This record gives sequence, structure tokens and C-alpha cells, in this order.
Amino acid sequence: MSLFSTCIAGSLPKPEWLAETQKLWPQWKASGDALQQAKADATLLWIKMQEDAGLDIIGDGEQARQHFVHGFLEQVGGIDFEHKVKMGIRDNRYDAMVPQVVGPLTLEGRVHAMEAQLLRAHTHKKIKFTLPGPMTIVDTVADSFYGGDKAGRVKMAMAFAALLNQEALALQADGVDIIQFDEPAFNVYGEDAADWGVQALEQAALGLTCTTAVHICYGYGIQANNDWKTSLGQEWRQYEKVFPALAKSSIQQVSLECFHSRVPMDLIALLAGKDVMVGVIDVASETIETPEEIADTIGRALQFVAKDRLFPCTNCGLAPMSRAVAEGKLRALAQGAALARQRLA
Ligand SMILES: [Zn+2]
Repeated sequence: MSLFSTCIAGSLPKPEWLAETQKLWPQWKASGDALQQAKADATLLWIKMQEDAGLDIIGDGEQARQHFVHGFLEQVGGIDFEHKVKMGIRDNRYDAMVPQVVGPLTLEGRVHAMEAQLLRAHTHKKIKFTLPGPMTIVDTVADSFYGGDKAGRVKMAMAFAALLNQEALALQADGVDIIQFDEPAFNVYGEDAADWGVQALEQAALGLTCTTAVHICYGYGIQANNDWKTSLGQEWRQYEKVFPALAKSSIQQVSLECFHSRVPMDLIALLAGKDVMVGVIDVASETIETPEEIADTIGRALQFVAKDRLFPCTNCGLAPMSRAVAEGKLRALAQGAALARQRLA
């Protein structure tokens, strides 16, 4: 792979013929076979757009899932989707209507075979696939089975980890090169993350021989997250609690958001021995980054991570943005990485 190989965090906007736009939990525009076809078409479209933009690692853009957590849960038995309840998630940062765990958790079938196989068939580049992490899943469902207390949360996380592991091994068999678990909850529950979150993550990645990654972040650029960020003070040091535990873990790549964030860049030093996905694209702003801004962010990160371990990435998913802005940001990402390569040479 080339130096500074670029990739997206995970999600991309859904075309307006597939689902409602600029929403985190959009309604689909079709149903049945027509919906399946539309999901596949949108996946193909974004594979092409990422390649045309010049990205090095290609993702499915999460076109076939309504939301990054609930997409996985739809194939899990033991969950009641009929009776959703309102729950404050991410430590009550915002309310969401969430399904309830009501029985033993089982995987009823493949979750993402269609997207992974499309990806593998339609690009020769490396492909990355994202799954929600166990701790973040636990924070996005209501527990009516495991006891509802802390011990129950840990038990439920380990049960989800076993199911995630099943799907991850199948994705690897589909030809996926990098499997990334998304754990935005790690920044919210730092101590629990270091205590059992990382352990659950390692269970989810058990036996994988492809590259393993974790994406932690401060969330999509939606109002509730932007408000939360203003409450975090001058320096965002949340990663400090979990990075040492991740450094000791078997997970190989870790992401953090760097551009327009108050994360002190030197926290990267806590990830010695890991590949670092450096967020160089702001997902909370419609302004398209210039190649110079991106190369500058890469340059600052290089103080703390070796160049062959640095992967320029988006701060988070681009799902709630407009399609035109997302396309512009993809092109900027590739151009910024190219400029950084030139500067270094
Ligand atoms: Zn994110």
C-alpha cells in the first residue's frame, strides 16, 4: 500500500432515491426486493465515487443499514423491534427509540454478505468493513433480559461480541481486508471502556487474521453532539483513559479525530505500536477542507506517529451530510494525502 493510504471512517450519505436524506435514522424509500436492489445500487455508486476520488481503501458507505448499530441488530434473535422504548444514549446525550433485548442473543443469518461481496467484486483496492462495537451496541439497546445492571451490561456485551465475531469471520472469508469496530461509547464511558470494553472488543475480533481496527470518535456532526463538544472544555482528553488499554490489546489500528477538534495531538503517543487513522476531515462542517489543511494536519500528527503507520481518514462518518459535500470531502482527502506525500519527498 502507498504511504498515507486514505480511507473513510465508514458511512456516506444515502442517495435520495434510497432513503430520506440528512437524517441519522432515515426511512427507506422502497421495500422488499426493490429496496434490496436500491441498497446494492447505492453501494456500487459509492464504490465508484470513492475510487474516482482517489481513495486507497474502499468501504461500502453503510448504504444497506438504516443506522450503524441497528443495521446489525436486525439479524439478531432475542431482540424485540416491535416495542421500542425511549432511552437516553451516550450517557443521556440524546434520546433514541431503541429495541429491547428480551431473550438469549443469537445470530439468525449473515448480516452484511451482500455489501461485502459487492465490494470485493467491484474494486481491486483494499476493502474495509465496519461493524458496531459491543460496548456501543449495549449502549444503544434497552436491556430487559440481562438484569439491567452493570454486571448485566458486561454479560450482554460479551454475548454481542460472540455474534459480532461470527459475522466478522464471515466478512473475512468474503475477502474483507480490514474489519473496523465502531466504539463511540469508549469516549463516553472511559473507565468502563478500559475495564471491559476493550476486552469485549478483543472477543469480537477473536481469530481474525485480517487487519483489525477500532474507530472511536465524538460522533456525527449533529446538534446534540456539537452541544456536547462545547461542554468538554478546552482540551478533549477522553481518549487518554482508553488508549493505554488499546495499546496493550490485539487491535491493530485506532482512529481519532484531529481536524477542528480539541483532541491534543500528543495523545497519539499513547498508541505506540498501532496504526493510527488520523481524522483530517471535519464532519460537522459543510466547508470542504483544502489539500493544504489536510497535509498540515498530517504533518502535525507525524510528530507522534511513524509515517508508515499513519492513515488519513475522516473524523467520523459522512452519513448526515449532503451528497455533494461528501463527494467534495472525499476528493479533498485524496488530494491532501497526495500533497503530504509530495511534501515528505
Ligand atoms: Zn464516528
